[in-house]
Amino acid sequence: AFDASTGGEGAVKRRLDNLGAASVLFYREPIEMVAAKGAWMEARDGTRYLDFYNNVPSVGHSHPEVVAAVSAQVAKLNTNTRYLVEIVDDYLEALKTKLHGQLSNVVMTCSGSEANDLAIRVARAVSGKTGVIVTETAYHGNTALVTEVSPSALKRSPLPDHVVIVPAPGAAAYGEDIANGFRAAVVAAMETLETRGHGTAAFLADSIFSSDGIFADPAGFLLPAVQAVQEDGGLYIADEVQPGFGRTGDAFWGYERHGIAPDIVTMGKPMGNGFPMAGMAARPEHLAAFCEDVGYFNTFGGNPVAAAAGLAVLRVIAEEGLQGNALRVGAHLKAGLSEVAAGSDRVTEVRGAGLFLGVDLGAEDGSGAPDAGYTVQVIDRMRAAGVLIGAAGRFGATLKVRPPLCLNMAEADRFIEAFSGAVKG
Ligand code: PMP
Repeated sequence: AFDASTGGEGAVKRRLDNLGAASVLFYREPIEMVAAKGAWMEARDGTRYLDFYNNVPSVGHSHPEVVAAVSAQVAKLNTNTRYLVEIVDDYLEALKTKLHGQLSNVVMTCSGSEANDLAIRVARAVSGKTGVIVTETAYHGNTALVTEVSPSALKRSPLPDHVVIVPAPGAAAYGEDIANGFRAAVVAAMETLETRGHGTAAFLADSIFSSDGIFADPAGFLLPAVQAVQEDGGLYIADEVQPGFGRTGDAFWGYERHGIAPDIVTMGKPMGNGFPMAGMAARPEHLAAFCEDVGYFNTFGGNPVAAAAGLAVLRVIAEEGLQGNALRVGAHLKAGLSEVAAGSDRVTEVRGAGLFLGVDLGAEDGSGAPDAGYTVQVIDRMRAAGVLIGAAGRFGATLKVRPPLCLNMAEADRFIEAFSGAVKG
């Protein structure tokens, strides 16, 4: 039922002809977008959608300050990254004020995948070991190395021998004492890697466990597992691609909620509000250990336009108090969704931090069993109500609630209303 006059079927065919099997269009009837502003996106047919599935334009779509900064810099100078350009160091210094002291070197890349790829290689150089521990439905990126540690991306291939998974840190796997249960699972994974002759180079985790289905509480649960890895000589790589830049509301980085001092931090998505940029922060001696062997150069990573975008994003987060907004509006949203859950057999749990929430949807029989088919139905109904939302988690039955950080209370209420309507019947 595509309407060719609005782009519809013709546009889909064109995309499939161009991208083939690697096409990743959202919805069975994909939407053709033409513009976006703040928390809203506009389709070719004129429909306006509230965007709850996009943590890239984190300070708001087409934010004027970011647009102006990028436009001014691209008009002035963009170059390969072998020259001294002041704005690049201005950006790195601004970013470093957000990181804890020891992480004083930042390597800029173009994608989160590249940042994680480099992080694993650094961890291997530092530890002299090769094994990596990740959660069971993790996604960390698309390079050959990083795909191996992204169980959610592997459709048929088995995990390689040097990768061991642990269940996501929820009550379903670990009961009430998540901190100790999770630590025990990570220690067992370390033993497996030792037995296999790899040892543990890194424990790589996204502290909001985005693709695992969002597990945020209790804050601090991650610390014992991280300490066990670090005591054994492995590195904790904090993948902040999802929770970083204020999204969890109570902290700038997701790992801060857990009281952790990571060995390496990787970041991306919201960093440039849509301008492609990412990075890896590490201790100088760790980076030196890696660079002694192979060195690292990235043609586009840390270009002056990226620096301009990144600086503008940091400025807007501060000026507009977006971390605090994420905390306040996130709490309001969570309370509203919890109220809907209390009145529905099919909404089985609402969890998360700031403007990063997970909502579990369950079977009609009231058993609480995850229901992926129903989740797709709810996503489609939300779309019909003008709200974009996606799913995550091991069973694909968790709504991933992740709007721009500039979301206001009225927009949050609109989401709650659309959700309440979508889960009725
Ligand atoms: N880490 C996490 C936690 C991610 O969610 C993603 C992207 N979804 C990545 C890394 C990879 O980032 P990119 O797509 O920019 O390579």
